Amino acid sequence: MNEFCCKDIYLREGRRVLSVDILPQKCCNFDCIFCPLGRSRQKTDAPQAFGDISGALAQLGRRIDETDPDLVFLNSKGEALVHENLGEIIRFIKDKGRRIKLQSNGYLLGNPRCRELANQCDEVIGELKVITEEGFQKVQRPAPGYTLEKYIANMESFRKQYGGRFILEVTILQGYNDSDGAVRQMTEAVRRLAPDTLKVSRMEGEKFQKRLGISEERLRQITAALESALPCRV
Ligand code: SF4
Repeated sequence: MNEFCCKDIYLREGRRVLSVDILPQKCCNFDCIFCPLGRSRQKTDAPQAFGDISGALAQLGRRIDETDPDLVFLNSKGEALVHENLGEIIRFIKDKGRRIKLQSNGYLLGNPRCRELANQCDEVIGELKVITEEGFQKVQRPAPGYTLEKYIANMESFRKQYGGRFILEVTILQGYNDSDGAVRQMTEAVRRLAPDTLKVSRMEGEKFQKRLGISEERLRQITAALESALPCRV
């Protein structure tokens, strides 16, 4: 049976969170060199059909009833926005009276179909990992025709019309966005994207830390610089 993968419920920001993976296999429009899911066999941004999801929805409904989450976090093996039935899944969760957070790399937030879906979620996460075109192509290996400027512009235009909580996750990669010049460019990007919440992290894990990791001290400095670009909210 086609099923979604639900993790154990956990507490975050005082809320009970149910994390759900709606993709049966990795499906993404990027093929990042550091992807914990391995290579993207076929990069795609077109809606993908994964068969009948009625059983998966029934199973998700039971899980929601059992665990009573405040928030359902759609955090999938790749880009959830390509799931052809995402609208149906969102409606189902909303009908259960739950808030939804959507994890996305952010590129498709400029696509009308995907934007309309993301607008139905209470929280949306977009990401930024590199800040030069060369770095974007080399490190994130996106689908053909993608550019970094379009990536940022897609998230920026989404953010301008979105009424929910926009969360920007920035990852600092040694040699790609940790120089003073790169941090200035990242700061400008944060200013343009005006997130409600900014999360800055570095590469963790033995495999990539040596090649792409940065020191705790440098992470603190960069985080402070990026936070200085956040909109003032009173
Ligand atoms: S955007 Fe995320 S899921 Fe997609 S290839 Fe990159 S790290 Fe993997």
